Amino acid sequence: MIPLHQAIYSSVKSSYLCLIVMNDMSDEISDNKFESALRVNDGVEQPSQVDENAVKLFKTKRKELLSVDEYVDGILNGNRTILSQAITLIESSLHTHKLLAQQIIERCLPYSGNSFRIGITGVPGVGKSTFIEAFGTYLTGKGHKLAVLAIDPSSSRSHGSILGDKTRMEELSTDMNAFIRPSPAAGSLGGVARKTRESIILCEAAGFDIIFIETVGVGQSETAVHSMVDFFLLLMLAGAGDELQGIKRGIMEMADAIVINKADGDNLLKAKTARIEYQNALHLFPPPDSGWNPEVETMSARLKDGMDRVWDILQRYRELVFNNGYFELNRRRQMKLIMYDAIEQMLTDHFYDHKGVKGEIPQTETDLLGHRISSYQAAQKLFNIYFSKE
Ligand code: GDP
Repeated sequence: MIPLHQAIYSSVKSSYLCLIVMNDMSDEISDNKFESALRVNDGVEQPSQVDENAVKLFKTKRKELLSVDEYVDGILNGNRTILSQAITLIESSLHTHKLLAQQIIERCLPYSGNSFRIGITGVPGVGKSTFIEAFGTYLTGKGHKLAVLAIDPSSSRSHGSILGDKTRMEELSTDMNAFIRPSPAAGSLGGVARKTRESIILCEAAGFDIIFIETVGVGQSETAVHSMVDFFLLLMLAGAGDELQGIKRGIMEMADAIVINKADGDNLLKAKTARIEYQNALHLFPPPDSGWNPEVETMSARLKDGMDRVWDILQRYRELVFNNGYFELNRRRQMKLIMYDAIEQMLTDHFYDHKGVKGEIPQTETDLLGHRISSYQAAQKLFNIYFSKE
């Protein structure tokens, strides 16, 4: 574990170190290497400046944990440092931190729910961070308060996520009306998703009225993001072919809007053609129960062109689903889904944590692979051990 102060100085010197300061108690939560408060990301360019939050947190590093009241007051007053520290508690693997986080969440819940939650997905390179930077500043320019969160399950493999990285969004990261939080470090998708969902509650209580949740458009994380947002935006490129873009049919089906990025220069015409093709393709999907017909638009995040068209889509969607009751219906469905997901997760964790089950798994696998028992019998055997009284 790198001491916090050392890591801060390294981030200035090194060309590849990107410091993500998660809290003021990094030493204490280092019991799990994947849950480190500090994560070092490979392949990210040197940040242009030291993260001011990091410095502030560094100065208060040795401070005791705040009381629940202090966290809650800080969040409700829109204090971004305290919000950041509270999210760190959500992400911590320490039991005491988790308990504290739950109390804070409970107190913030009555103040949550008032944002427009927007999921943003697309394969790496499509222009997500350029878009978030451009569209984010467009929105804060309109007086909105924007929080950018991320879900990147691949971080469990690469030991570090770049999604939501502030160095990718330089303008937005210095914007007082924006709050950028990188993807929680590693863990199961379910675990990462839970942390992001809980972070949404705190961000909303802190007064952020628009929340972006960014994810990479290649895997299951889309389903997780879809289950926590009001609107799902898919970024695509013209002429890259769906397969090349790794976009699965299911992801397109979830999209409330497809925005074709990089509609500039030589690419402009191709983007316009792609727009018509995607629009036609979307008509083939069954109509969503939101009553909204997904739309396709073009933009250039680099030239900041098309931001008003994207905003127009989002506003019209919101108006429609507010009025037809879908907004509320969807939120309620999501809340139930989260509860059942949580139950499944708890049961699974409990099962695999069971001492007897843990001890018996290797032999059961050997018996299974030696064709001595069937997969079903193997599962039943472990299940019986789980329910035995020992
Ligand atoms: P991400 O991996 O999806 O976050 O993609 P980035 O935002 O990092 O963009 C990948 C590359 O595409 C970068 O080199 C961007 O400068 C470039 N890019 C992003 N948006 C546009 C755009 O609208 N037009 C053009 N021509 N390039 C863009």
